[in-house]
Amino acid sequence: MGVPSIGCGCDVCASTDPHNKRTRCSAIVGLPEGNLLIDTSPDLRFQLLREGIGIVHSVIYTHEHADHIFGLDDLRLFQFYLGHALPLYCEETVEHRLRKSFDYAFSDRKQTHAGAVPNLTFERISTATFELLGATIQPVRLLHGPRFQVLGFRIGNVAYCTDTNEIPKESRQLLQGLDVLVLDALRRRPHATHFSLQEAVEVARLLQPKRTLFTHVSHDLDYATTNASLPPGMELAFDGQRIPLT
Ligand SMILES: [Zn+2]
Ligand SMILES: [Zn+2]
Ligand SMILES: [Zn+2]
Repeated sequence: MGVPSIGCGCDVCASTDPHNKRTRCSAIVGLPEGNLLIDTSPDLRFQLLREGIGIVHSVIYTHEHADHIFGLDDLRLFQFYLGHALPLYCEETVEHRLRKSFDYAFSDRKQTHAGAVPNLTFERISTATFELLGATIQPVRLLHGPRFQVLGFRIGNVAYCTDTNEIPKESRQLLQGLDVLVLDALRRRPHATHFSLQEAVEVARLLQPKRTLFTHVSHDLDYATTNASLPPGMELAFDGQRIPLT
């Protein structure tokens, strides 16, 4: 929901620490042949402007929940910068949801003017590795509650695993030897579809990345006091944080 949460006056929502200002989850990866955006959060325009990122060359989706897709219309400008449609890499369920939620962007109706709607194409992905923008992408199957599957992504020795509360055994093998693991940790109390902080710490202990950054963090967790309590090598991520791709 983002922090501050609308209508909430708790200490974290009222905090003046910029690390406690959290937009909806997304990440961008600078690859040899361009910028790969992971998810199009409802805060996408603000995030790209804030970080000074002028162009996106491809988008890859973890899953189709509202907090990960509803910034899609902000991709409208990139057709002009690229000179072609912007490719969206996703699974079938994500494509169905995007086509339904943004029907105007995928209709056959003649446009009144260039750029009236986003110009996007779909590229289907699975759990197989593939090449994109000069890098190898390893999708990682994750469970997000009892009935929902999402993808995490490993690029080099960095993995991004948000919106999950269970990492299947086969996937854990793909997450060995990491320099950085970005991992879902919503709050202290258990949740039906996200790791709690304690659960996420246990996963990090099991996978043993050199460094773990917890993301998708709610107003339950204050940045400074939570970080002071975490084991070495583990910390809450913050908006705008940059990490080297190794
Ligand atoms: Zn709050
Ligand atoms: Zn989410
Ligand atoms: Zn989700």
